[in-house]
Amino acid sequence: MEAKKSYDIIVAGAGMAGNLAAAVAAKKGKSVLLLDRNDPENVGKKNNWGWTCGDAVAGSHLDYITSKTGISFSKPELDVKVEGVYALAPDLNSKFLFDGVGYVLDRPEFERKIRDVAIKSGAEYVTQFEIEGPVVENGKVCGIFGKDKDKNHVIYGAKVVIDALGISTVLRRRLPDNKFVDKNVDIDDVESTGRYIIEFELDHEDKRYYDPENALIHLNQEMAPGGYGWVFPKSGNKINVGLGVQKRSLDIRNKALNRNDTLQNLIDQYIAWLPIIKNKEYKIFNKDNNGKGIWSVAVRRQMESLVTDGYMGAGDSMVMPNPISAGGIGPAMVSGILAGENAVRAIEANDTSVNGLWQYNVDFNSEYGYKTAGLEVFRSYMQSLNNSTLNYGFKNFLSVKEANEIALGKMPELSLSSKFSMVLKGTMNINAFRELLYAVNKMKELNAIYLKYPETPDQFEQWRKKVNKSMEEAKERFKPNPI
Ligand SMILES: Cc1cc2nc3c(=O)[nH]c(=O)nc-3n(C[C@H](O)[C@H](O)[C@H](O)COP(=O)(O)OP(=O)(O)OC[C@H]3O[C@@H](n4cnc5c(N)ncnc54)[C@H](O)[C@@H]3O)c2cc1C
Repeated sequence: MEAKKSYDIIVAGAGMAGNLAAAVAAKKGKSVLLLDRNDPENVGKKNNWGWTCGDAVAGSHLDYITSKTGISFSKPELDVKVEGVYALAPDLNSKFLFDGVGYVLDRPEFERKIRDVAIKSGAEYVTQFEIEGPVVENGKVCGIFGKDKDKNHVIYGAKVVIDALGISTVLRRRLPDNKFVDKNVDIDDVESTGRYIIEFELDHEDKRYYDPENALIHLNQEMAPGGYGWVFPKSGNKINVGLGVQKRSLDIRNKALNRNDTLQNLIDQYIAWLPIIKNKEYKIFNKDNNGKGIWSVAVRRQMESLVTDGYMGAGDSMVMPNPISAGGIGPAMVSGILAGENAVRAIEANDTSVNGLWQYNVDFNSEYGYKTAGLEVFRSYMQSLNNSTLNYGFKNFLSVKEANEIALGKMPELSLSSKFSMVLKGTMNINAFRELLYAVNKMKELNAIYLKYPETPDQFEQWRKKVNKSMEEAKERFKPNPI
């Protein structure tokens, strides 16, 4: 079948990553086709439930987008400003500041705004188009195939395809066998998550459960095995409240407690646990039909290479969310911009092979990606601790500054002797602290490997071997142990 039309660049998926990739590339004068399965009103909607997300994003990410594109954000797309994100221990007796100033978005408004920027910049926007896979010639991606809104089979051609289809991407999964981009993701690196946006009446103030000025994360291996629960404030008397679990941790926890809990009833139990909701009564806030939903989020380092011949990936299609916070909005937007810029650069240099696209890997790595492998190790470490060790560790292992450094991907200097003033009680806690030292050293090792990200594709295989070896050692050491 002939291509219906050919473009310089096809951007597949008009979500956080895709809209910005299309905006940047079209503004630089390239012909850009932006494809999405939704109708225009629902642009960026992830699934039938809606835009399922916690919708919290760091202010620094928005500043980056503004500095790169000139887009500025305000109401209604920024629903509420938060001063910080706090992670609380299971017993709620200690907490760490996890991230600084940020915003909780009105996600549908945000997506419509960046989509409009893409269109104004010159991208052609085709809606209700279901992408089914890449068109490949001689191992190189040169277009996509799918069905238009009338269910006609259509092929579009392009010099570069940017995959911004999110975690369920059919493009990455159907790539030809290649040495650069993995097609599959390990189930242990995926969190099953769900959230409601609810309206409620405040029973009483208790900032351990709800804080109108801060986003709260509740670590608790019984309530959210291998993940966490969150309460993010929204405007008015509303919250975005949800929970994520690692399947393996949930299975272990259910077996140990002789329970049969699912993600769905864990979310309901979590909301029922929040004493700030008067009479445990709440209403789903269903603006844009976006009040309730379940979806997956990958919490590992991004794909080691984000490009292969004719193909680039951005956002969740490349498993970019932060491994410990699951924050994927920031990296999706950053990668969208960098993918758009680098697609243009490659086309102008007349080389859209893996060589010509490689600079995107280098740029994303130095802007954001260098820290994620280390954070993945820290995630595995946290998943290996039960509630009582988490409670103890929150209080005794790290200062607020050290915990904040880890969350930001910087490595604090830790040693047993530096903690000489700490009285470690019990073998379990001494072991857990030793394991923390191991995790921090592993994080340093992986950060050092990522600081030497290959400048060209020919060094990639050797480099990836080092990453995999280091990561496998860490994964072997830290096994999920929620109870
Ligand atoms: C429950 C939950 C809570 C989260 N909380 C947060 C949070 O608080 N903060 C944060 O930063 N991140 C959070 N994340 C992660 C964040 O939502 C994602 O990282 C982000 O949406 C990624 O954007 P994206 O553009 O890569 O992909 P997506 O937002 O998934 O967009 C992909 C687009 O492609 C379209 N598409 C997919 N397949 C096809 C196809 N075959 N044909 C045509 N179109 C298609 C989709 O419909 C959608 O429009 C959360 C995720 C979940 C699931």
